[in-house]
Amino acid sequence: MIIVMRSGATAAQLDGVREQVEGGGGTRTYVVRDGVRAIIGCLGDADALAEHRAGTLPGVESLTPWRTPYRLAGRQLAPPGGRTVVRIGDGPGASVGGPTLLVIAGPCSVEGRDMLLETACGVGRAGAAALRGGAFKPRTSPYAFQGLGLDALRWLAEARRATGLPVVTEVLDPRQVELVAEHADVLQVGARSMQNFPLLAEVGRVRRPVLLKRGMSATVTELLLAAEYVLARGNPDVILCERGIRTFEPATRNTLDIAAIPVLRGETHLPVIVDPSHAGGRADLVAPLAYAAIAAGADGLIVEVHPRPASARSDGDQSLSLAGFAELMRGLAPFAAAAGRALAGPPAHGPLTNEPPEVRALKGRLGRWGVLKDAPAAEAV
Ligand code: PEP
Ligand code: MN
Repeated sequence: MIIVMRSGATAAQLDGVREQVEGGGGTRTYVVRDGVRAIIGCLGDADALAEHRAGTLPGVESLTPWRTPYRLAGRQLAPPGGRTVVRIGDGPGASVGGPTLLVIAGPCSVEGRDMLLETACGVGRAGAAALRGGAFKPRTSPYAFQGLGLDALRWLAEARRATGLPVVTEVLDPRQVELVAEHADVLQVGARSMQNFPLLAEVGRVRRPVLLKRGMSATVTELLLAAEYVLARGNPDVILCERGIRTFEPATRNTLDIAAIPVLRGETHLPVIVDPSHAGGRADLVAPLAYAAIAAGADGLIVEVHPRPASARSDGDQSLSLAGFAELMRGLAPFAAAAGRALAGPPAHGPLTNEPPEVRALKGRLGRWGVLKDAPAAEAV
């Protein structure tokens, strides 16, 4: 239930209503303001009791039932302006959910320090506003490359210092949330973890935005209820990601649910981005899916990019080369303009610290597309 207070209601009246509603235990309140009035969302399983008591209290204008099972994620408690804008990174950083599209790019897995710095410089130069890279990888086979863990986290933090790009990486285990949050600007919860409720609760406790990917067999409602777990723990910064769902169609790795973008935008105030890489599973499908996503109203993209896709240790088939990513960004501009959006571009402030000499040296070795001029030839996977 939602309690709308009168425009002239006093702070004492607001406190009185909250105390009454919360008094019985089992119900928490959450207050937003629409400019003139306070609106109290009652969260819990004792709504009926709360309604019975609250209707007669001083200062109350009206009671409205919840329209959706997700409360904080739903539109009834949307912030002023109707949409949540999530800020990413400290300082100037980047943002998503406003007029500017957020493009996150980088390798599926962090495979080493040089390849990460090389990719970071390349995608930043092409206009990405954030860097992705997996340190802990959820792999279908226990024998597949599982990521480089803490070393990868340290290189991600170094890549941020060198380029100014905020970094996004996946957290798989509730026990690693703090460690990952120390190194990354955004915590990714992957498709396979979308309903790992202890993990959702744990990322709900930290002060880092959460990139929540839709489970491969999850409905839109289930995605929004997963987001609700994070919001209910006190973290308001959730970015939703449509990354394709499993269907009977084997021509693509998943089926990009384009309709989910406008559906989500109608259901929630949270930003919605699209992952065309995992959706299609093929590098040649990334650009058309990305353009479709932007045309359908997505707030941004997360794209896999590798300097030498043929030798990638995970998801090489769907990874763009640095030149391919630069081409994608050029092709995106008219779609962004048609959707009334601007492209963010790399951080105007450049590197966050004085570049260490080895990073400067590495940048000197980058060729036209940001690829290392003296890179080893691609090895067969
Ligand atoms: C990834 O981003 O590399 C990843 C594993 O994505 P998803 O969880 O969407 O499969
Ligand atoms: Mn991947």
